[in-house]
Amino acid sequence: MANEQIMTTIAGRLQAVRTRIQRAAVEAGRHENAVTLVAVSKAQSADSIRQAYLSGQRQFGENYLQEALDKQSELADLAIEWHFIGPIQSNKTQAIAQHFAWVHGVDRLKIAERLSQARPGHLPPLQICIQINVSNESSKSGASPQEVDALVDAIAKLPGLRLRGLMAIPAPTQEIALQQKQFRMLREIYESLRARGYLLDTLSMGMSDDFPAAINEGATIVRIGSAIFGARTKTEK
Ligand SMILES: *Cc1c(COP(=O)(O)O)cnc(C)c1O
Repeated sequence: MANEQIMTTIAGRLQAVRTRIQRAAVEAGRHENAVTLVAVSKAQSADSIRQAYLSGQRQFGENYLQEALDKQSELADLAIEWHFIGPIQSNKTQAIAQHFAWVHGVDRLKIAERLSQARPGHLPPLQICIQINVSNESSKSGASPQEVDALVDAIAKLPGLRLRGLMAIPAPTQEIALQQKQFRMLREIYESLRARGYLLDTLSMGMSDDFPAAINEGATIVRIGSAIFGARTKTEK
């Protein structure tokens, strides 16, 4: 596609997604700006990210470290807030702690400790969401709901990190009731942590196919890729 066409397409899709986010928030009785959009740019070119940026998008989510670092250096002239949303291997924690503002997929203490140790002192604390497995699939990553309390107690004490909330990737389903059920489970865990005194403000849930249901259940961050950039063409690593 010619550059100009990519621009028109991404700008138009981004605007349509923003409108749908605002509408879902208002329908849920929330403020139209209650939900932050993280544009998921895995497998998308630096050029596509730049076009979305020119349409006002500032938060971008990446899953694969090396791919993200390459794009970050190409886009170093832009004031992007980078979110790491992929699975975290322990040998990647140092680079992640150095190059991202947010990490959404923390699901065990060892990873949090490594991120804490590696966060450079001149940067603000790394913003953290703990990933919870809400679909009961043993294959899915994420801490189990039973582990959450202990994990939060430990992670909240670590220097260099700021625990903001919870994240989940529910099992994909077209059934709205099932989507709602999984999002509600995450929100209930979140509410119980807040009731225990943790000042959490972030529920990172909702993707292209299910974000209205997530917003209805209280999502404060939605992570949306294909609805903005189109289907991912490059093979995912
Ligand atoms: C890919 C991905 C998304 C975005 O998915 P889309 O269906 O393209 O919107 C959101 N969150 C995570 C963790 C992802 O890996």
